[in-house]
Amino acid sequence: MPLPEPALATPTSGVARLAVVDPATGEPFDDAPDQRPDELDAVIDRAHLAWPGWRADADARTAALRGAADTVETAADALARLLTREQGKPLAESHAEIARTAARLRYFADLTPRTRRIADGRAVDSEIRWRPVGPVAAIVPWNFPLQLAAAKFAPALAAGNPVVLKPSPFTPLATRQLCSLLADVLPEGVLTVVTGREPLGARLASHPGIRHVTFTGSVATGRAVAEAAGASLARVTLELGGNDAAVLLDDVEVDRIADRLFWAAFRNCGQVCMAVKRVYVPARLHAEVVEALAQRARTVTVGPGLDPATRLGPVNNAPQLARVERITREALAGGARAAAGGQRLDGPGHFFAPTILTDVPPDSRVVTEEQFGPVLPVLPYRSLDEAVRAANGTGFGLGGSVWGTDTDRAAAVADRLECGTAWINHHAELSLAQPFAGDKNSGVGVAGGPWGLYGNLRPFVVHRPREA
Ligand code: NAD
Repeated sequence: MPLPEPALATPTSGVARLAVVDPATGEPFDDAPDQRPDELDAVIDRAHLAWPGWRADADARTAALRGAADTVETAADALARLLTREQGKPLAESHAEIARTAARLRYFADLTPRTRRIADGRAVDSEIRWRPVGPVAAIVPWNFPLQLAAAKFAPALAAGNPVVLKPSPFTPLATRQLCSLLADVLPEGVLTVVTGREPLGARLASHPGIRHVTFTGSVATGRAVAEAAGASLARVTLELGGNDAAVLLDDVEVDRIADRLFWAAFRNCGQVCMAVKRVYVPARLHAEVVEALAQRARTVTVGPGLDPATRLGPVNNAPQLARVERITREALAGGARAAAGGQRLDGPGHFFAPTILTDVPPDSRVVTEEQFGPVLPVLPYRSLDEAVRAANGTGFGLGGSVWGTDTDRAAAVADRLECGTAWINHHAELSLAQPFAGDKNSGVGVAGGPWGLYGNLRPFVVHRPREA
C-alpha cells in the first residue's frame, strides 16, 4: 500500500506549499511548491522545445554532464546538510550519496552508443544507429533522493533526452537545490523538477508528451505507473521493492562477517531497496548470529543525522514509522522475540530502536513483506534446500547474498537465488558499469551501465546497397 502523503504547509502567498518535515525532530522546517497536475503541460512543452538542441550535439552533452558533476562536487557540503535535514540519514551517508550522484553524471557523460553494421551475406549493409526516445519522466522515492534521481536523469540526458524529474513529496528540497545549481550548466528546459502531491506523478506518467517513464518506488505504485504509461504507450522502466535474503552457510565465520551483515541491513536505517531484509542461518549457528547482530543493534549510536556521532538516523517519515511499528508489533504478538529493540524510541523525531527479531513465524509480514526500516528477522534453517526455498519464497527478486568461507560453494548457492544481483560475503555493492534489474515483482527493464543508456534510446536502422 502506498503511504499517506505529507501535509500542506500554511500558504503565505495563496500558492499551495508542501510542508517538509525534519525526521530528527518530527517538525516542519521548510516547504516546497505543491504543483498542480495541469502545470505539467507547460513544463513538458518546454522539454519538447529544448529537445532538438540537446539531442543535436553529443560533445556539448558530454561537456555539460561533466560540468554538472563538478557542480555537484563543489556544492557537496550544502547539499549534504539539506539532504540529511529532510531525509534523516547521517551526514557521512549524505556525503556518500552526493559522491555517487556526481559519479553517475561523470560515468554517463563519457558513454556513447555504438553504431553497428550488420553484414549478413546479402548485397545490403544494415547500419544500426541510436536515437533518443524523447522527453523522459523520472519519478523517485525518498530513501536516496539525489542518487536515484541521478541514476535516471544522467543516462536519459546522456542519450539526448530532456527530463522532467519528480522527487517524493517527503524529500523535495535537496533535489530542487541540485537542479537549480545544474541550471548553470544545462540548457533551459533540459532538466526540470516538479514537486507536489498526487495525482502529480500519475499525471506525469500518463502525459502524452512523455516517451519514457522511469520509476523507482514500491511495487504497488509501480503497477499504477505502468498502467498510467499504457495510455500513451510510453516505454516503462520500473525499479521496485525488494525483500533480499542473506543466506549464511555452515562454514561462515560469524565474527568476521557480523559487522558487514549488520550494516547491509541497517544502512540508511534499513531504508534501502536492496538492504538485507531477512537472514537465514543454520540452526547450529542461530543463537551466535542473533547475539552478534543484537549486540551491534544495542550499541550503535542512534540520533539526528547532523550529529557527527550518529551512525543510524531516524525513519524518514511518520507513515513509514507507523508501518515499521505495526509490522514489528504483529510479529511480536505472533510469538517473535526482540533480541534487541522492538519499539519506537521516546522523545521527538521518527526514531525506532534498531531491532533484531528471533523466533519469528515465517509467515509474519516482517518476513514476507518489505519492512523498509531498522528491523531484521533472523530465521534458523535445517537444510540448505529449505533455506534456498525460503529465500526464493516471496514475490520479490531484487537481490540476495550468500555468506561462507568456501566462496565456490557460496557462489553455487547464489546461483540458485531468484534475483537480479547476488553477492558473496557482502550485499548491495554495485558498480556503475553493471546492469541493474530486478527479477519477479522487483522490476521491469534494465538500468545501470550501458544498458541504462540504451534504455533511453531507440534503434534506427538504415539499409543501403553495398558499394561494389
Ligand atoms: P512509492 O512507490 O510510494 O513512491 C515513489 C514515488 O512515486 C514518489 O515520488 C511518489 O510521490 C510517486 N507516486 C506515488 N503515487 C504515484 C502514482 N500513482 N503515479 C506516479 N507516481 C506516484 O515509494 P516510496 O515509499 O517513496 O519508496 C520506497 C519504495 O521504493 C520501497 O518499496 C523501496 O524498495 C523502493 N525502492 C526501490 C529501488 C530500486 O532500485 N529497486 C530503490 C529505492 C527504493
